[in-house]
Amino acid sequence: MPSRDVQPRVVVAEGEPGAAVRVLREVFGFSSFRGAQEAIVDRTVAGSDTVVLMPTGGGKSLCYQLPALVRPGIGIVVSPLIALMHDQVEALHLLGVSAAFWNSTSSAEETSALRRELMAGRLDLLYVAPERLLMPSFLAFLNDAANGPGIALFAIDEAHCVSQWGHDFRPEYLRIADVTQHFPGVPRIALTATADSITRREIHDRLRLTEAKEYVSSFDRPNIRYVVEEKSDARAQLLRFLESGDDGAGFTGAAGIVYCQSRKRTDEVAQMLRERGYDALAYHAGLASDERARVQQRFRREDGVIVVATIAFGMGIDKPDVRFVAHVDLPKSLEGYYQETGRAGRDGDPAVAWMAYGLADVVQQRSFIMSSDGSPEHKRVDQMKLDAMLGYAEASTCRRRLLLAYFDEESGDCGNCDTCLSPPELWDATVPAQKVLSAVVRTGQRFGAGHVIDVLLGKKSPKVVSWHHDELPTFGIGADIAEREWRSIIRQLVARSVLSPDPARMGALTITEVARPILDGSERVELRKISAAPAKVKRERAGGVPRTDAGAGASEADRALFEVLRTQRRTIADAESVPAYVVLPDRTLWELATVRPRTPEELLAVNGIGPVKVEKYGEAFLALLAAHPES
Ligand code: ADP
Ligand code: ZN
Repeated sequence: MPSRDVQPRVVVAEGEPGAAVRVLREVFGFSSFRGAQEAIVDRTVAGSDTVVLMPTGGGKSLCYQLPALVRPGIGIVVSPLIALMHDQVEALHLLGVSAAFWNSTSSAEETSALRRELMAGRLDLLYVAPERLLMPSFLAFLNDAANGPGIALFAIDEAHCVSQWGHDFRPEYLRIADVTQHFPGVPRIALTATADSITRREIHDRLRLTEAKEYVSSFDRPNIRYVVEEKSDARAQLLRFLESGDDGAGFTGAAGIVYCQSRKRTDEVAQMLRERGYDALAYHAGLASDERARVQQRFRREDGVIVVATIAFGMGIDKPDVRFVAHVDLPKSLEGYYQETGRAGRDGDPAVAWMAYGLADVVQQRSFIMSSDGSPEHKRVDQMKLDAMLGYAEASTCRRRLLLAYFDEESGDCGNCDTCLSPPELWDATVPAQKVLSAVVRTGQRFGAGHVIDVLLGKKSPKVVSWHHDELPTFGIGADIAEREWRSIIRQLVARSVLSPDPARMGALTITEVARPILDGSERVELRKISAAPAKVKRERAGGVPRTDAGAGASEADRALFEVLRTQRRTIADAESVPAYVVLPDRTLWELATVRPRTPEELLAVNGIGPVKVEKYGEAFLALLAAHPES
């Protein structure tokens, strides 16, 4: 596809001192680099190879886009995600960068136009799919480029696709180095958000990046708040979560993802949200592919769409302003959970990862594992992953610390998760634990939590009476503790593998070896007390935070202006057919609404606005700002 008739706006002289910072300000509109970006950019500009491991939202694209502008010639970006390619190229056009993509959808006409642009030295960045890169015709094209305007760099995005062990494996990635070896003087930069050490080794080996320096960023996402709730009625709880928020505005108008375990449930939950006035859409693998594409497109392009999805809604969700990710069912593993929650708050503004889970989830997940046709070894690994997930859900210490430790990263308490914000009270639960265990044993290890609790509470339910469990010595010995607390005790004992629900027998609780020392009194049990008002913290402090940092301190008038600016952004985005955030991110809109610049110069000082955006949209936004006097 030919790039539009956009001329490169920034001309960089070879070896110009401070060129990178100038381009950062003048093209991208950012005042400073983030984290390792500066070192990576400098190294790439200097012509060396680099491997970049950064979490989603860390700012990887700038690491190759900027050097491609500073170095002479064209930057070649290999990316497996065609839909994203399109958006990236559109976003670059709006910055005044001349970029194009070349993939299976490009026609012969488009590619010959592309060649002309290239040979005229008018192209800064070219995105290609890996299978295109490997074609002989493309090698000829690269040779022309090398002999003409030059090749600035090769960027290999989603570099973990070289890993045969990963689920994103792309065989074409194994042959990328065969192509780049023809251009030994051109720096290469491989980027990924997947951090485990096996994948890292494979990236170096298979892309033949033996000399490359590796930059590993922290995988922490400090702007995401982690909150876990005990599940009683998931739908009601989800609604309460969505309606919460310090300013009472909740998540109205915010984009979010709700993950469910089954297709049926996505339909039900989406339906319920629509009835409550949310713009919610269901997404799962059972939908026709054009319907799936439509949902993805609406989510990406429009404001405030909630997608209720199974994990089929996955790779390639790069929308930066997702304000919450909710799990109404327990995920299978912490890796999956972290990846899913990581889709929130890529723009760095406050976001919430909320989950509701209960014992029934554990039973269901276990039964999935049991009935899968994997090998015993496979089942064992799945079970271990589920145990780690459960440990997280039942944590009484900082949740982020636990998450990061799972990925081998050390950290202190975060101050931005529910356990940090409202530390749970711990209590000596040895005696209650013994009571549960004995009730489980006395009833023959054949009943689920509900029945065991009835026995403990001394409830003469028909089932209790018919099994004569009201005649047991354990009947009623737990009447001093509320039912909810008993549920919590049982869940925590399951999370610690003291009790084990048997999925083959409808979740019947059985005791394990770990229970022995507790039963004979040689081991104490310390558990987390459930708080008196479970949702309080979430409503008052942890709940909806759709506002950005700038928005948090905004007055009523600022907010009203924000909405006006947002409508203007929507109009521009529709006219240019790009997602709204590509025009201007939320954070920039908030800055406009609170700072209220009056002139093009003042506009330039706003983070996220460079000269090209001032030229294109300055007038429209300044007119709106002028119509709103100082607050
Ligand atoms: P990744 O590809 O690592 O997931 P992106 O490259 O999409 O992340 O960047 C995430 C967000 O951070 C984008 O909205 C981008 O504009 C913004 N960003 C990147 N670098 C900077 C910077 N130096 N200053 C401010 N914002 C930045
Ligand atoms: Zn914490």
